[in-house]
Amino acid sequence: MHRLSPEVKPDAAAWPLHGRPSPDDAVPGFRGALHLDPEHRAAYGEASGIVRVIPDAVAVPRDAEDVAALVRWAGLRGVPLVPRGAGTGMPGGNVGRGVAVDLAAGFRRVGAVDADARTARVAPGVTLAELNAAAAAHGLHFPVDPSSGERCTFGGMIANNSGGAHTVLYGATRAWVRSLDLVLADGTRVATTRGEAAPAPRLREIVGRIEAAVAPHRAEIEARWPRVRKNSSGYALREWLASGDALDLLVGSEGTLALVVGAELRLAPLPAARGLALLELTSLEAAGAAVERILELAPSACEMIDRTFIDLVRAGGEDPGYPLREGLEAILFVEMEGESDDEVRGKLERLRGQVAGSAHRVSIAEDAAQRSRFWHVRHAASPLIARLAGGRVSMQFIEDGVVPVARLADYVRLLRRVLAGHGLPAVIFGHAGDGNLHVNPLVDVTRPGWRDEVERVIAEVAEGVAALGGTLAGEHGDGRLRAPLLETIWGAELVACFRAVKEAFDPRGILNPGVILPLPGQRPLDGVMY
Ligand SMILES: Cc1cc2nc3c(=O)[nH]c(=O)nc-3n(C[C@H](O)[C@H](O)[C@H](O)COP(=O)(O)OP(=O)(O)OC[C@H]3O[C@@H](n4cnc5c(N)ncnc54)[C@H](O)[C@@H]3O)c2cc1C
Repeated sequence: MHRLSPEVKPDAAAWPLHGRPSPDDAVPGFRGALHLDPEHRAAYGEASGIVRVIPDAVAVPRDAEDVAALVRWAGLRGVPLVPRGAGTGMPGGNVGRGVAVDLAAGFRRVGAVDADARTARVAPGVTLAELNAAAAAHGLHFPVDPSSGERCTFGGMIANNSGGAHTVLYGATRAWVRSLDLVLADGTRVATTRGEAAPAPRLREIVGRIEAAVAPHRAEIEARWPRVRKNSSGYALREWLASGDALDLLVGSEGTLALVVGAELRLAPLPAARGLALLELTSLEAAGAAVERILELAPSACEMIDRTFIDLVRAGGEDPGYPLREGLEAILFVEMEGESDDEVRGKLERLRGQVAGSAHRVSIAEDAAQRSRFWHVRHAASPLIARLAGGRVSMQFIEDGVVPVARLADYVRLLRRVLAGHGLPAVIFGHAGDGNLHVNPLVDVTRPGWRDEVERVIAEVAEGVAALGGTLAGEHGDGRLRAPLLETIWGAELVACFRAVKEAFDPRGILNPGVILPLPGQRPLDGVMY
């Protein structure tokens, strides 16, 4: 239930913060900074994706107690809170009306790395790069690697169940979270650890309510759940039913169930050696079949760019780092890890044999310099596309669909058909090994009617993804953009279960309303910035 948000009139004089700019007066117990000026509000109104919503205020808590004070106040006043890390999230989960809560600035501490246990504690504002710098001294790393790792925070990664190129081997963020420190929607602070025998009483009570609501739907959840290798859409009911850990529901909940104020993470040993092969493919079928065979060899990455990306690179005169042949449908980048260079070389040679019939040519990088040349185009995908898009805007609105790997070629065909049908050029690339593709349509925003066209594309792709047994979010989350499409993907019964989860954790609907679950009347392009 999201009763509060439509009733909140954030710009009205009656709104509690307005006219009471003194932080101490406004929010009892809150010692951080509250900003009401247009500059702060504008800065927190935008993020990396296409959604812009200016908040009514910005709160920068100093610590977890501050967050709890803010949440208690928001609950009493019915003010929505929008948790925020670095703002690199794509689908608008990080922007919204109410108070933007900066959980990065005051939460930068990397705790001691426990090399024996291979764990580390982090505050939610710590970036992936910062943790990895500390862990490297112990020969360890956090193996889930979003391309935004220099900037994105663990608060955001946990909230989105982020993934990366190495998720094909290591899984997504959920698998590496051992415990969470949380502020719940009533301001209670709790900690929860994977496998704990006695959860905090408040958490037990919440989970009890969810169990009662969800129990009659277990069979439907099991039958309907998409069989994809990664997912960050909806609430992770199936994982939670399997483990019994509330942590599984909280990871991936996009700031809608609780605020993360600390975490204990598992770490993995840094691989001793890595090697890379580049596979050129002349048909989509061959690409799909090759990915299935490559997965049998447990690659550490299996990434793809498709013909649309190859054409854009060629037309833009960009140096791809290797000769681009005519007639290619896709290029796969396959990375192997091992204990030694020889072991990795052996794996890459096995790969060559494994794809002999399907790949037009297999090139194995000779050294680290060549490896980084091969990776250049794939790693720089989004900025490169934005630069090469000419007068069009490279827009992320169907940017994160995921399907069973066996349906990968069907998915690329679906995307090409829908986009061509609406006259939208687009670039397709992504995590082929996980069946998760990023799609950047290039939109002419000076053309009348472009919004309607885009909304139709979103609806048609959502229907197609549902038919292929996938979801619209492999790693970026639903945000505001995809919330209105939730029922298309999950069906009414599972969405009702998701609502039960939300209501049990946040009965007043103050935590990120309109994210994951839509508000009445919400549409995908509400708040689009163009
Ligand atoms: C160039 C680029 C490349 C990217 N590559 C990848 C990639 O490879 N893989 C991938 O998965 N993603 C990728 N992303 C998306 C994005 O970087 C990730 O989702 C990232 O984890 C978001 O982190 P953030 O700190 O920016 O969070 P934000 O964008 O600030 O927030 C994201 C979500 O988390 C919630 N949130 C933030 N902090 C907290 C908290 N402490 N408690 C509760 N909720 C919180 C927010 O409300 C929001 O819903 C990319 C983005 C860009 C711009």
